[in-house]
Amino acid sequence: MLNYTVDAQGIATVEFDYPGKSQNILNANSMGAYAKAMQQALADPAVKGIVVASAKKDFIAGGDLAELGAATDAKAFHAAISDWHKLMRGIELGGKPVAAALNGTTLGGGMEIALACHYRVAADNPKARFGFPEVTLGLLPGAGGTQRLPRLAGMMAAAPLLMEGKRIKAAEAQKIGMIHAVVAMGEERQAARKWVQEAIAAGAKPLQPWDAKGYKIPGGGPNTPGGMQMLMAANAMLREKTYDNYPAPRHILSCVYEGLSTNLDTGLAIEARYFTNLVMSPVSKNMIRSLFFGMQDANKLSSRPAGVPQQKYTKIGMLGAGMMGAGIAMSTATAGIDIVLLDTSVEAAEKGRAYAAKQWGKQVARGRMTQQAVDALLARIHPSASYADLAGCELVIEAVFEKREIKAEVTKQAEAVIAADAIFASNTSTLPITGLAQASVRPANFIGLHFFSPAEKMPLVEIIVGKATSDATLARSMDYVRAIGKTPIVVNDSRGFYTSRVFGTYVSEGMALLEEGVPPALIDKAGLIAGMPVGPLALADEVSIELVHKIAQQTRADLGKAYVERAADRVAAKMVAELGRLGRKSGAGFYDYPADGPKHLWPGLSQHFVPRVGADGTAMISLDEIVERLILVQSVETARCLEEKVLRAPIDADVGAILGWGYPPFRGGPIGWLHTLGLAQAVATLDGLAARHGPRFAAPKILRDMAAKGERFYP
Ligand code: NAD
Repeated sequence: MLNYTVDAQGIATVEFDYPGKSQNILNANSMGAYAKAMQQALADPAVKGIVVASAKKDFIAGGDLAELGAATDAKAFHAAISDWHKLMRGIELGGKPVAAALNGTTLGGGMEIALACHYRVAADNPKARFGFPEVTLGLLPGAGGTQRLPRLAGMMAAAPLLMEGKRIKAAEAQKIGMIHAVVAMGEERQAARKWVQEAIAAGAKPLQPWDAKGYKIPGGGPNTPGGMQMLMAANAMLREKTYDNYPAPRHILSCVYEGLSTNLDTGLAIEARYFTNLVMSPVSKNMIRSLFFGMQDANKLSSRPAGVPQQKYTKIGMLGAGMMGAGIAMSTATAGIDIVLLDTSVEAAEKGRAYAAKQWGKQVARGRMTQQAVDALLARIHPSASYADLAGCELVIEAVFEKREIKAEVTKQAEAVIAADAIFASNTSTLPITGLAQASVRPANFIGLHFFSPAEKMPLVEIIVGKATSDATLARSMDYVRAIGKTPIVVNDSRGFYTSRVFGTYVSEGMALLEEGVPPALIDKAGLIAGMPVGPLALADEVSIELVHKIAQQTRADLGKAYVERAADRVAAKMVAELGRLGRKSGAGFYDYPADGPKHLWPGLSQHFVPRVGADGTAMISLDEIVERLILVQSVETARCLEEKVLRAPIDADVGAILGWGYPPFRGGPIGWLHTLGLAQAVATLDGLAARHGPRFAAPKILRDMAAKGERFYP
């Protein structure tokens, strides 16, 4: 756990060395070992100074999230964190010089250990990053980070690190005063030791700046004019950005304001309370579960069918060089895989490559990529109009027009060329995979790989397993998704699969609210307040109201009598067929898009969807109910996907929603939110909504059964 040595000069080295792991991890065990080692060094008269170091390639990359995620006893947690604060203060005031040798990445609790040393020296390691990622998982740096960093760097420089989780390199960390020195890699321990030796020789009691006489907060404290201005602006910006859905950045700001208004010890006590509050809050539990463990499991392919040898990819075929084809080609080339980009003509295929060149060109202009690197990537993309070029592809993905006949035709042509064991994948967003596989002569090798737009940026791939798709095809497709650095979720075939189906309910509910007479500005604002990245009407404009209309028509045609008309169908039909407002692409949808200014709601909307407002002009429905409807309509549809086994696991739903359509992470995901509400409460609320608004809110059996038995989706 820890190596403890004392040399002939009386300098102790306390070296983190977590057994059996490539990284040091901070948890009850390793923190206990550190406390013991430091107390021993401080108490031993033979020890004159201390160097804290790491035996791994990094210093410490953070705390044990499993432990934090599982913590439920607030009192015990608060006591433990207060003890840790005491230890850190003991080190700072112990009279012996303590230096940290930061050989690599130092984050979170690791950075806090370093900040409680008198001196910090970092290696000039290009891979090393320094900072506090806690806020990104709904937490705060609770071992003194919110107190020590702004006391060293000033509130202004500390803000992006604490409140956004920004990670910086060694040189920048030195510039803002977070570390004292940067030395060549491999010399950091020696440098730390040298500082300790000199401090011993100087004989003065080593003190942190805040413990020394005459200390002033760099740039001024919270109650100076500059400090007040900074905090007021930060507070306003935070609320504008988050609608106060995220307690962590708000608590961090409180820690800084309240803590820096007093002395360090009181500040630490304040921080301990806010930290305990966050660790116990459902928000951090949700974010840790979905954003950390859920994502980690998905990226590790933990649901990959066993026993299938890993597939290596060297050459991929991409049919259709449109928006999606070009994006997928970019992601594939970036992974070092050659890609044949095929369209109806070489010129059309070249357009896809030109798109890639343009996007990467922007990176060159910003200094994020070299032209040389871009040229190497472009050399991997081979525009073509000849199916013969697909020979040797391990995988072919089609992203041609969303028409069954065209998809069938390209499937046949590609399969005539590729090897018998090659995979054929469709990027369709709506057409069931099992139906498309009918065009295939080897449906076991046919699968859905649903990317999101823009495909070169969006991290999720929804893998759709058709009736005939084999486990081997699934496993090998997952290997491809991992190879291009994206996160897969696996779902079974159904109309709209999982993501389009549930995402669509959010847009539809917004349109239903409009038909009911809820003012459109209120609908879209409610979407933002709910935590969604875009309001439902603005989103309908983005994906195009015409598409919503087309999908409704197609579904109606496919389902015949079984089709149940929805409010959204009527609204879309009216907007498209009657009013000719197709969405953003036509410059006219629920919003107007003037060439010379920002978009705004179309004033004509109120004539066609007359707002029902009370005598005082306020809406007939509360904001809370709109938010509830926009959120629960997604949860209830997701629960149906679980019941119908479209989804294989609840965590897939949550990871897919957050990565796929920006579902608010603080809720954990559509299932995470039901879990947060408690299933009995969720069912009761859904019953009320179903009674008022119809069966789209009816709780499916799976929810009722689980609620009745007191079962939960997550521990
Ligand atoms: P697009 O219109 O931008 O591109 C389609 C491309 O396919 C065009 O370049 C066209 O020339 C080419 N093409 C048409 N017929 C062809 C044929 N017979 N052989 C070879 N190439 C042919 O469309 P897109 O937005 O890239 O969408 C493509 C597919 O991806 C569709 O199935 C769509 O549903 C799906 N999809 C789209 C999105 C999205 O947001 N746009 C998201 C996920 C999935």
